[in-house]
Amino acid sequence: MQKDPILEFDNVAVEYQLDEGVVRAVNGVSYKVFPDETLAIVGESGCGKSQSSYAAMGLIQPPGRITRGHIWFREADGKPRIDLAGLDRNSKEIRSIRGGKLAMIFQEPMTALSPVHRIGRQLDEVLKLHTDMGKPQRIDRGCEMLRRVGIPDARKRYDQFSFEFSGGMRQRIMIAIALACNPRVLIADEPTTGLDVTIQSQILELMKTLQAEHHMAVVLITHDLAVVAETADRVAVMYLGRIVEMADVKTLFAAPKHPYTIALMKSVIGSPLAADGRLQTIRGSVPGPLERVPGCDFHPRCDACIPGLCDKQEPVFKDIDGKTQVSCHLFC
Ligand code: SF4
Repeated sequence: MQKDPILEFDNVAVEYQLDEGVVRAVNGVSYKVFPDETLAIVGESGCGKSQSSYAAMGLIQPPGRITRGHIWFREADGKPRIDLAGLDRNSKEIRSIRGGKLAMIFQEPMTALSPVHRIGRQLDEVLKLHTDMGKPQRIDRGCEMLRRVGIPDARKRYDQFSFEFSGGMRQRIMIAIALACNPRVLIADEPTTGLDVTIQSQILELMKTLQAEHHMAVVLITHDLAVVAETADRVAVMYLGRIVEMADVKTLFAAPKHPYTIALMKSVIGSPLAADGRLQTIRGSVPGPLERVPGCDFHPRCDACIPGLCDKQEPVFKDIDGKTQVSCHLFC
């Protein structure tokens, strides 16, 4: 039986009102994530993948704001859904959810961790905010989490500072903090960027193990297709603030549909989609944040562009075969 989604984006838009114009960082994103499932969101830098997650966490900073849509979050089975998009980012409600039932691992652990507070204090803060544990219990739980993520000599390390740890260990600490309160949803924003391949694989394995233990839904934000293939159940490909293709991971890698998805895959070293075995690139570049093109957002860079149609009419995002949803005139 299909369970209820824990997190559901419904036509969400995030805009930044600047003196120069409006930046549409997220433009009508819809997706659902279920318990035990990993949804990977992929795309080039600036496509809105991190911004959509910040919207769920209530971390969009002014002059940015959510201008449309709903972000439904189910705190517990059988409980009514909460619309995160309707909460003030400083409200008591969002603060009781953020970091507790809805947790995030940020891109850069060196800046996400405080350099002036001991690791134990940073673990203790989330437990103090989201649980009713007393101090000794919180210390035990903090040390247990450090052990769970593979930090040896946890009690001693609990009292150390972030600069006393390697990059891989800092990322493990971020995971320990994020998972300390048994979240329902974990948003992992490029959790392995900058780590060497061995550590990367250990971190991904660790996330999988902890996900299985806690039945979490994971939203994995990445530009690394190898990580997606290894980790995700479903994939959403984003371009200029919109999802342009969504499918289960096997379908997407076996038969990508959208020309942007195909171009992304061809630009991976050793891709079987690259006809002559040479590294392909996507021609042109992502338009500036204030630029908007008529029709399909991808048409100035698309080799399959249909003149008179793609440059005039916006394609609709729709299910084409029960497996893939895509936004492209080639499939209308
Ligand atoms: Fe290319 Fe046209 Fe499809 Fe856009 S709608 S991706 S321009 S073929």
